[in-house]
Amino acid sequence: MDPSGAAMTDLTGKAAGLEAGGVALRIEGLSKTFGQNTVLKNVDLAVRHGVVTCLLGPSGSGKSTLLRCMAFLEEHDAGIITVYGEPLGFAPKPGGGRLRLPHAQVVRVRRAIGMVFQQFNLWPHMTALGNVSEALKRVRGLSRREAEARAMSVLERVDLADRAHHYPSQLSGGQQQRVAIARALAMEPRIMLFDEPTSSLDPELTGEVLSVMRHLAQEGMTMVVVTHEIGFAAQVASDVAFLDKGEILLRGLAKDVFAKPWHPRLADFLETYL
Ligand code: ADP
Ligand code: MG
Repeated sequence: MDPSGAAMTDLTGKAAGLEAGGVALRIEGLSKTFGQNTVLKNVDLAVRHGVVTCLLGPSGSGKSTLLRCMAFLEEHDAGIITVYGEPLGFAPKPGGGRLRLPHAQVVRVRRAIGMVFQQFNLWPHMTALGNVSEALKRVRGLSRREAEARAMSVLERVDLADRAHHYPSQLSGGQQQRVAIARALAMEPRIMLFDEPTSSLDPELTGEVLSVMRHLAQEGMTMVVVTHEIGFAAQVASDVAFLDKGEILLRGLAKDVFAKPWHPRLADFLETYL
């Protein structure tokens, strides 16, 4: 795969022949409605393996819903999501329509996905180490010793080994979010989704979280990041998609999109957040 993606301007990947190998997560014709409110309309998106895709868009445009669909925390009403070629939740039915897949298969495919939320969602009654090791014990069946050893090594990666025995209330917001990142990483996902990971932080604490994310990106982690940190997006993202009112208005290589935000809606958006 060409890591710079230089040849690719079509994020669906089809134009660049990335059908095999290059695409980590593919979304085709995805729609999602809450009651009468169609929140996502026929979304197509390919998340390339090994690079950062930034998802931009105004508040209410459907970014969180799209990420939640990628993690199957929300069921899409139409369309197909594949993760490294395997359908997530629904598979296309020969002759049209789609088929609901068995729960066990959903669980297995979803294991490839880790998610970090705006609100860190840590368990307040557990230490940092407890937060990171809990699912390793309960979901992955590791022994306490194994789980804590792995949790400790992940806490080291986010530079929090010295806070392992602190409770969330004893940690800054930036530290709590780094614990949440460690918790997701401990499950060894192949794709990490970040939903406005710095939006609830005081400005002086965003840097440490973005720095951890930058390191992950440098290590080649496949990431989808919803953020209003345009500077970060311009620096770290290879691909950008811009969502507006539930539709992808444009997508492309970050270097093209930021150099020449030709769509007026995107230009307005960038002006607001730059
Ligand atoms: P964004 O993350 O871009 O701000 P969201 O995905 O959170 O956008 O929301 C998109 C739209 O979907 C909004 O109109 C929001 O009110 C609606 N929405 C999101 N989640 C739900 C839900 N669980 N039930 C009903 N409406 C929802
Ligand atoms: Mg949101």
